[in-house]
This record gives sequence, C-alpha cells and structure tokens, in this order.
Amino acid sequence: MKNCLCPVCGAAAAPAAAGLLKCGACGLVFKTEKDPGPAVYAPGLEEGIYAAAKENLFASALDFLGRVLPRRGRLLDIGCAAGELMKAAAAQGWEADGVELDPSLAHKAAGLGFHVYSRPVEDSFLDSETYNAATVFEVFSQMEDPARAVSEIFRVMRPGGYIYIREFNAAFHLPLYALEMRGVFKPLGLSPSVVHNFNFRAKTLRVMLESAGFRDITVRNSPPTSGDPYRTGGALGGFLTGALKVLYYWLTQALWLITFRRVFAGSTLIATARK
Ligand SMILES: [Zn+2]
Repeated sequence: MKNCLCPVCGAAAAPAAAGLLKCGACGLVFKTEKDPGPAVYAPGLEEGIYAAAKENLFASALDFLGRVLPRRGRLLDIGCAAGELMKAAAAQGWEADGVELDPSLAHKAAGLGFHVYSRPVEDSFLDSETYNAATVFEVFSQMEDPARAVSEIFRVMRPGGYIYIREFNAAFHLPLYALEMRGVFKPLGLSPSVVHNFNFRAKTLRVMLESAGFRDITVRNSPPTSGDPYRTGGALGGFLTGALKVLYYWLTQALWLITFRRVFAGSTLIATARK
C-alpha cells in the first residue's frame, strides 16, 4: 500500500477525488497514476506560457534575489524552458544555468549560450554548494519525486543561498476541479483548474522546504500571469480572463490579510527560503 503514504511528509493519505489522494498532515494532493513527463501544450501556446505572460513574475523573482543577494553569483533555473528567466538573470549580472527535460526547449536555451542539464535535477549529479540561487517555476507539480528534488537543490546550493518557487495552489484548484467535473463551467467553455501529479498548498511547501533543511521560509499568494496564456477562459477571451485574474488576486490578498495571513486562496503561490 505504498500509494497511501504521502511522498512529501510520509503521513497517511486518503482518497480525495477520483484518482487523487490527500495527505492528512501536509495537505499534498497527488495522483495515484502519474502523468508521464512534463505537460504538453497546444502548438503556439508555449511562447505565452513560458515567456510573455511571465515576464513580470520573472522580474519580481530577480528583484527579490537581487535584494537578498546583492552580490549575485550563480543561479540554477529548474524547468528553464527556452531560457527566458536565465536571459533576464544574466542581464542583471547572474551567471545562470538551467535544467530542462524537454529536448526542443533545452536546445533553444542552450542556443542562447547557457549550460542546460537535460536530466531531472535529482539525478543531475551537480557539485555540492555550487549555486547562490535556485528558481523553480511550476515544476515541482510535474516531477517524479519533488521531495527528493528539493533535497538535491538544497545540496547543490551554497550556505546562505535562496530558493524562489512559484507553484499552483491546490487550495484553489481542487475545489474548482470538483466543480469542473460536475460540468459547472461547460456553458462558458472554461477549464480553470490545474491538476498535476503533485498539488501543493502553502503548508505542503513549508513542510517540504523545512524537511530539506531550508529556513526563513515565506509563502504568499502570487500575482497572476498576464492575459490568458493557457486559454482556459474560453468564451471570456484573453482580456476579460486577464482582468478577472487580477481582480481575484486582490480578493485573495484581502482574505489573506483579514485571516491574519493564514488563508491562501490564490491560484498560485510563491515560496522563498534560505539555506
Ligand atoms: Zn504529507
């Protein structure tokens, strides 16, 4: 009954919905049958998903890292796609490397002059204490073994280095998924929920980072991507979907404040921590 133990904290997990188990301790929701490999998007969507819609999010990540590590150093971007974040980091004085399993994206990133590892980070055999910063944008959800990956990231980071994570929030997507399964969004052609192999909430990210050895952990709601890069808004179109996402973000921030920073309802979370 290996499937009944949480792969992040080891506590018991119970059925949450069809094909999904939920950990009673850290709140991780995971698929009983894993999707093979990284997500595949329709042709033409990748540019929006990996680059344009995330420009501002990459800039905030680099602002944060530049503030806590003013002397910069080496940065490892896990799930670097075609190298957009590495390009922005290099422009700010970082020496950036990437990890990317999709061969065509890895090839594009390498074409920009970056060193790109094409094996999972937990099997990349990188030297210990090499990187000052690590960025992980929506990748833990699709990994084989996120807990092992975060321990490996901890090992390759220098003491005092920072990790910056953006990840889908299960507390938002799973209730939405339940409604979607009941056909609630069908009339508008919406498909707003994102359910991957591993679905984290704020507590899960904290537990996972803490067990790997990280400290000074912070978790907050993430601002949304611009527009509708995943085309989940159906008949609403890009502009309206984008506007609703911004409105929803401010509502989640209000909820977070009135619950004394305890309730995270955002569609995505940002976590940071120090080694
Ligand atoms: Zn757990």
